[in-house]
Amino acid sequence: MTRSLAIMEFQEAFMHRLLQIGGFLRLGNLVHTRGPKYSIMEYFPGLDKVRAVRWIFGRDTDEVLQSLKVEFTWIGSYMWVNDSDGHLMVNSKYLKNGDRLEIYLDIIHELVHVKQHREGKQLFDNRYSYVDRPTEIEAYRYAIKEARRLGLTDQRICNYLKTEWMTKKDFRKLAGTLKIEC
Ligand SMILES: [Zn+2]
Repeated sequence: MTRSLAIMEFQEAFMHRLLQIGGFLRLGNLVHTRGPKYSIMEYFPGLDKVRAVRWIFGRDTDEVLQSLKVEFTWIGSYMWVNDSDGHLMVNSKYLKNGDRLEIYLDIIHELVHVKQHREGKQLFDNRYSYVDRPTEIEAYRYAIKEARRLGLTDQRICNYLKTEWMTKKDFRKLAGTLKIEC
């Protein structure tokens, strides 16, 4: 490994930790570098044909997808919606190495946040913890409905819900709210 690569990996690990500590998604909006943004349809073609996506946006689906932008970044976890203008942020490493099915379910989840942002909802409302936040619960409900439609077992959905930054207690609470047997 070259020295610069090692430094980059250190920076990434450091940022990842920082984002975990500091209300990770919120901070992610502040520290991200303004990279180029691409049309979401360019990276995820066929999204307009997905029934779950059409359930989210209804008759606005085509209009939303045509204008929605995606930005790739090396910071932050997985993907999230930048609440400055509602575009999608994706960790490039996750997109490259993540489980395809989980990436798909994450896209469904994040598109619900895009819808909420369009409705003027506050996505990172600190009055709620992550697992109690109504915007998160709504996003998980759509993703899990799609997971069930695809035939995923509760066990598989549990594995999907588990993340390194969620405590066991929070995980059980979220699973309970979503009525998943974990
Ligand atoms: Zn979310």
